[in-house]
Amino acid sequence: MMKKEFRPPFLPLAGGEPSALFAALPSPAYVIDEKQLEKNGEILASVSKKTGAKILLAQKAFSNFHFYSLLAPYLAGTEASGLYETRLGREEMGQKEVHVFCAAYREDEFSELLQYADHIVFNSIAQLKKFGPLAAGKSLGLRINPECSTQEGHDIYDPCAPGSRLGVTRAVWDAEMDSETLRLLDGLHFHTLCEQNADALEITLRAVEEKFGDILPGLKWLNMGGGHHITRQDYDLTTLCNCIGHVKEMWNVEVYLEPGEAVALNAGFLVSRVLDIVKNGDWNIAILDSSAACHMPDVIEMPYTPPLYGAVETEDASHPFRYRLAGPTCLSGDVIGDYYFGNELQIGDLLVFGDMAIYTTCKNNTFNGMPLPNIWARSADGTYKQLTDFGYRDFKCRLG
Ligand SMILES: *Cc1c(COP(=O)(O)O)cnc(C)c1O
Repeated sequence: MMKKEFRPPFLPLAGGEPSALFAALPSPAYVIDEKQLEKNGEILASVSKKTGAKILLAQKAFSNFHFYSLLAPYLAGTEASGLYETRLGREEMGQKEVHVFCAAYREDEFSELLQYADHIVFNSIAQLKKFGPLAAGKSLGLRINPECSTQEGHDIYDPCAPGSRLGVTRAVWDAEMDSETLRLLDGLHFHTLCEQNADALEITLRAVEEKFGDILPGLKWLNMGGGHHITRQDYDLTTLCNCIGHVKEMWNVEVYLEPGEAVALNAGFLVSRVLDIVKNGDWNIAILDSSAACHMPDVIEMPYTPPLYGAVETEDASHPFRYRLAGPTCLSGDVIGDYYFGNELQIGDLLVFGDMAIYTTCKNNTFNGMPLPNIWARSADGTYKQLTDFGYRDFKCRLG
């Protein structure tokens, strides 16, 4: 499995050992850490303060609306990928801006969308022509494809990959754009990064300048999408701020960023316990009460090995015991990863996975009839609040 370098195998936790912090929770359980969300929020707000850029929460990564009021002071609003996220942003962070991008809007949803959204970004000139005239009073944008891939190995997360359906290339713009349609447009939008540092933004901006630099001075804003790993420890904030300053100066436009991951990076945990330990040849396999397939689907989809407290991913002298950690479903590939421990695992042992806020609670499922883990908020003073009460109904009601 591919490993994501920036995810440390140990996460420094304020206030004590994970076992002491999490042992009282029924497992499996997700815990969202408010202190970490605030820390991330402060970093994002400092970028806005320094540069004037507006930063939105991309809800597809983290749509845990319980925390929107906590995040609101740090952000300019929300970004949505579909109708329901748009509504959620309006209802739960409503005094702030509500933006939406969708690869294609539906006629039967558009008037409802207009009730919620302030900014609507289209993926094609045809959709802009079709829906733009219906959206009086809204700020309209078009997603562009600067045709500049800056990531390797993650083709499904590269909107600049050959054959991508996301964004208008300059060739298509030249073939389809007319002056009447251009008058509908307030801004351009690009989203081409994924878990990247500011150097990739710098490269992308050069491509945007080369391809669309003549268009931007006539517009009001440029939305630079998500994928900026702004709250990661090694993220280059100075380069980001310089990029924003450069854009504002060169084109005299307002700048938006809409990170998802960066807002809730390292702010979640999945608390699990060992149900059984089975052997196969040289392998010791611990079956947990949480599943990669159901409860951390990006472990399989991305794929990556999540950080786990008290364990390491490569053997060393103090971690000689290797276990494959796996889920309780019937899927052979329901494997979280191989880890090395300082002690032999026992049935009932508590295991705490880190970085489980983003693309996790909003993507999980009840495959195999697995219960959904409940979600808990951990406040800055260490107290827990249970936010959900999932049960059989949450499995059954999706099926009939
Ligand atoms: C996914 C996405 C984002 C958020 O991306 P992150 O990698 O979570 O920062 C923002 N904007 C658009 C259009 C997206 O598709």
